[in-house]
Amino acid sequence: STAMIERQEKLASLGVLAAGVAHEIRNPLTAIKARLFTQQKALTVGSPELEDALVIGNEINRLERIVKDFLQFARPADPKLKLMSAEKTLRDVRDLMALQLERSSIDMKLELNSAGQILADAAQIKQVLINLVQNAAESIPQKGTVTLRERKDVTRLNGQSVPVVILEVEDTGNGISAEVQKRLFDPFFTTKDSGTGLGLSIAARIIQKHGGLLEFQTQVNRGTTFGIVLPEANNS
Ligand code: ADP
Ligand code: MG
Repeated sequence: STAMIERQEKLASLGVLAAGVAHEIRNPLTAIKARLFTQQKALTVGSPELEDALVIGNEINRLERIVKDFLQFARPADPKLKLMSAEKTLRDVRDLMALQLERSSIDMKLELNSAGQILADAAQIKQVLINLVQNAAESIPQKGTVTLRERKDVTRLNGQSVPVVILEVEDTGNGISAEVQKRLFDPFFTTKDSGTGLGLSIAARIIQKHGGLLEFQTQVNRGTTFGIVLPEANNS
């Protein structure tokens, strides 16, 4: 439709602009951070000056994260598709996130149900999973569980049965209200104090570029499951 084309053109020109601005912001940030670290070394442990320096460091990290997310959102890379194992990807994500979740009293479970193979960009799929795990962890008020699951299914597409592999991230968190569900994938929509609101819009875009689908099921006060649905690859 015309509205969609207009939207795509807007996003494309926004991308060029954003990439330029983001680079311009990133360089001075890197320089500031380097100077801050040398200053920090000269400060006494427990002094108010060091406390300030640590706050400044955290805020610089936050700016860097926003710039990184924004760059990725504005200018997503084309996926480099390779035959990959869904299992290995989930294991990698578990290993990457285990420590962070453990620190927040969150258990992480791994449920591997099939040895499904997909044609995908491993780095991009990992990034989507990390975003989903981060959201899952942030939705858990105190203790809880995040489950990474891999399973096969069959979906109907254009009147045909298509075998798919589904990568799921399930949490025992707050769930998503109907109001928030409507805006879930909108860029910059966040309910968090320090969120960028770009995680899910980047994730949806990456999965769309893979010819897949990002779906979710949620129950308020029970939890949420996000599923990455990708066509199963023929490994013959
Ligand atoms: P951010 O995490 O920076 O807020 P996202 O795009 O990742 O941005 O998510 C947008 C919003 O969707 C979040 O602020 C939150 O309100 C909601 N959300 C996403 N995932 C979950 C989840 N697993 N449980 C509850 N709410 C979620
Ligand atoms: Mg997020």
